[in-house]
Amino acid sequence: ATPTAVMVATGIGANNGILIKGGDALERAYRIQCVVFDKTGTLTKGKPSVTHQTVKIFNKTPLAEFLTIVASAEAGSEHPLAKALVDYAHNHLVFTEPLTPRSAEMPRTRDLSWMREASGFENIPGEGVRCSVGGVSVLVGNRKLMVASGVNISDEVEGYLQQTEDRASTGIIVAFDEVIAGVIGISDPLKPEAALVIEGLQRMGIRCMMVTGDNWGTAKSVAHRVGIDEVFAEVLPRGKAEIIQKLQSDGTVVAMVGDGVNDSPALAAADVGIAIGAGTDIAIEAAEYVLMRNSLEDVITAIDLSRKTFDRIK
Ligand code: ADP
Ligand code: MG
Repeated sequence: ATPTAVMVATGIGANNGILIKGGDALERAYRIQCVVFDKTGTLTKGKPSVTHQTVKIFNKTPLAEFLTIVASAEAGSEHPLAKALVDYAHNHLVFTEPLTPRSAEMPRTRDLSWMREASGFENIPGEGVRCSVGGVSVLVGNRKLMVASGVNISDEVEGYLQQTEDRASTGIIVAFDEVIAGVIGISDPLKPEAALVIEGLQRMGIRCMMVTGDNWGTAKSVAHRVGIDEVFAEVLPRGKAEIIQKLQSDGTVVAMVGDGVNDSPALAAADVGIAIGAGTDIAIEAAEYVLMRNSLEDVITAIDLSRKTFDRIK
């Protein structure tokens, strides 16, 4: 394409909240054969929350006590799931009136005096947290964390986890003194446009895939709902870039769409890194495209724009 055509395309992109970092990026977008989507915050809204009736207690601990311990354990984690658990416990323990969507949005007095002190806090990336609260050893996380800590997952618990995952929620497992105390279902709603965008890309002849650190059950359930058949789940943060490189090894031109939490290395490894939403600064730096509007439709707009620019000169 002529420098003028590239300038025009970049301008049209900018008007649509699509920042394109130069002509090379535009040219590579033209050749995209495969798009890998991050799950959390990309296909989903990235706003996980505990929904009603999804706290299941297996060891008869009273709900308030159970939530107090879980939140006290998660207080030291920055993970969005940890924040969802702390918020839920806070709402349950502090608000007397039932929580409505409106009161959930209201500025809250952060009275966290109900929290207990956690000692020996350990954050295990891709698995969860471990600490001790009031002399009880507490684990909050996924199956991997339980297996690594020698906690037995009974058939009853496993069945409940699978039920949760079939509904596209993530089941967070809680153990007290190495025995399972409960499971908390957390759901992160899909972006409303996700399925249509996947369908549109597939119709353009582009293979769509999904990558996530979340478990296989939830991952497959989310992928199925948006129309993706190729899934990589239980991927550790550094594993996302390795997956991109493996896909590229036979010459496939790969784009990665991510919100930047955990996926900057994958955005950088891809032929075309597409950062979605406000994202993080590192993501914006690692990516060649930044979609300011946080809408997945702009992935199609961006590829369309490059096709129009490069088809014209052929
Ligand atoms: P993602 O790719 O979805 O951002 P992560 O690698 O951050 O995934 O986490 C993968 C999984 O590890 C989560 O789905 C959850 O099961 C578990 N996990 C990670 N951090 C925590 C935490 N602080 N509390 C509970 N579970 C956690
Ligand atoms: Mg993400």
